[in-house]
Amino acid sequence: MTGPVVVIAETDHGALTPPTLECVEEARDVVAERGGQMHAILPGHGVAPLAETLGAHGADRVTVVEHQALAQFSADGWLAALEPVLRASRPMLFIAPDSGYSRTWLPRLSIRWRIPLITNCSRIKVIVDGYPEIYRFGHDGRAHERQIWARGTLMGCLLAPGVRGVGAARARRHIEIETVTPALDPSSFRDRTLKTLPPDPKTVDLADAERIISGGLGVGGTDGMAQLRQLADALGATLGGTRVAADRGWLDEDRFIGSTGKIVSPKLYVAFGVSGAGQHVAGIGASELIIAVNTDRTAPMLKMADLGVVGDLHQIVPILLGKLQALAGERNEDAVHEPEPAELALSAAGS
Ligand SMILES: Cc1cc2nc3c(=O)[nH]c(=O)nc-3n(C[C@H](O)[C@H](O)[C@H](O)COP(=O)(O)OP(=O)(O)OC[C@H]3O[C@@H](n4cnc5c(N)ncnc54)[C@H](O)[C@@H]3O)c2cc1C
Repeated sequence: MTGPVVVIAETDHGALTPPTLECVEEARDVVAERGGQMHAILPGHGVAPLAETLGAHGADRVTVVEHQALAQFSADGWLAALEPVLRASRPMLFIAPDSGYSRTWLPRLSIRWRIPLITNCSRIKVIVDGYPEIYRFGHDGRAHERQIWARGTLMGCLLAPGVRGVGAARARRHIEIETVTPALDPSSFRDRTLKTLPPDPKTVDLADAERIISGGLGVGGTDGMAQLRQLADALGATLGGTRVAADRGWLDEDRFIGSTGKIVSPKLYVAFGVSGAGQHVAGIGASELIIAVNTDRTAPMLKMADLGVVGDLHQIVPILLGKLQALAGERNEDAVHEPEPAELALSAAGS
């Protein structure tokens, strides 16, 4: 097989997204197995300084695709700008984060090029004789598929966020960086981003959630889960849990976490009454901070937590809720009593 493994990078508010760095590291592993180079394509406006970070996570070469029209996502814009760059790199395989962006523009590329685009990938491997092997979550995460494609098939893989987590950046490596400026006519784009709204924590997909409150069988039933939902609302977090909690109907089916559920990578993951079975924790490894509350001090969940609390969640959750509600009340009062500029002017005049 010839040609590099290429990663299509995504940015958010001027930073590379964590799923992009996961793709870069996955591509690095593929290259380590089969030899060759790892290239990254970095589209956007003013994003060139991020090329070094792609290098620190494993890219040998970065092509920055710079244009003001790429500051915001447009499927037409990305297709017009990136197709020629991707074609010129003559990839053996390309990888992108499984995101709303890549699910919008890459299917069009795959139809145009008549190549497979494999979504929800968990691992990309190259076996000895050069046939690419792709592992993916199928049937809503209920099955693990292994796909083996004919030697030499060019394919696009969308890596599910959180499947491997982001490793440490390496010491400074030498990378090649080139910048291309495509000729784009934004007035011809049929779609454009008008505004980017923050996700609603109540409905956001668990895979994208920044804070997760997770409930297991220890919550005891739908009432316990409703109390956790209140806590999640107060923290601006999303409610998730274990598969057995979902099987009992305490949670929606798409809200359980683990090897057969969602793979999550939040900044904060708080587990209440979750024992920490292997199939569950397989889905939370990329969490930044893990807190666990459990009555059983030997529970595996407490062992893997950054902060473990041995105690009864039915006592702890109401205390936490009370404190959060009191804090929210204080903030509201401050907002109510904040003097208006006119009030300030009057009191200054009166003094
Ligand atoms: C093929 C297969 C795939 C699976 N896939 C998944 C998966 O993707 N995701 C998943 O989650 N599971 C999965 N499972 C199930 C998994 O093996 C565990 O059974 C499950 O994760 C356990 O859920 P739990 O922690 O809620 O329940 P339990 O293991 O019963 O743990 C409940 C915990 O709550 C604690 N507790 C009880 N009362 C309180 C209290 N008042 N306060 C505080 N703590 C309390 C207990 O000490 C205990 O540690 C799978 C199983 C199989 C066989």
